[in-house]
Amino acid sequence: MRSLPNILIAGTPGVGKTTTCNEILSLASQSTPPLNLKRLSINDIVKERSCHTGYDEELQTLIVDEDKLMDEVEKDISDGNGEGGWIIDWHSTAGFAVRWVDLVVVLRCDETNTLYDRLSSRGYKEEKVQENMDAEIFGVVTEEAKEAWDEEGQVVELKSVEAEDIEDNAERIIQWVQNWIKDQGQKDHGE
Ligand code: ADP
Repeated sequence: MRSLPNILIAGTPGVGKTTTCNEILSLASQSTPPLNLKRLSINDIVKERSCHTGYDEELQTLIVDEDKLMDEVEKDISDGNGEGGWIIDWHSTAGFAVRWVDLVVVLRCDETNTLYDRLSSRGYKEEKVQENMDAEIFGVVTEEAKEAWDEEGQVVELKSVEAEDIEDNAERIIQWVQNWIKDQGQKDHGE
């Protein structure tokens, strides 16, 4: 049984996953009492534990070995008796076991010009920018998440367009964690 929830922060590249995760961890450490949330950056695991089979020049991205990646993710999630508290970020929810994750937050940037600027400023080629823009416009990540996590309220979309959205979203997620802890406490006492 987890003592803290695991949360997957998903969304198209450039929607603000990294920035939001940093803000969540910062607010968690300032909470009273502090919440022991930990970051699980899937990007870092892919690179540091060689969960890739090559590089796609066209799409300027590593070709991910999903089986190996998910084995590594499971190892980390099961660590410490599976006590939870992982804030995981990845551009997709594919491959994640539903039981690993208590809440999926899909960040959305529906201001296409804003997303375009964020992606272009990373030096992405036009083709890669367009592919990501299309994925965002069609809500691909949310659709994929909702197919897997079918319980009401397990998948939430949050707008990430303006700078203040980052703090608002992080605050909402911290509040959700606090409520989760309270609910677990009530369940444990048979209420
Ligand atoms: P991701 O991890 O989803 O690829 P990042 O967190 O790296 O996205 O954000 C990409 C860029 O966009 C960063 O420069 C970040 O500061 C900016 N950004 C992301 N979300 C917002 C937002 N809601 N408001 C303003 N800037 C944002």
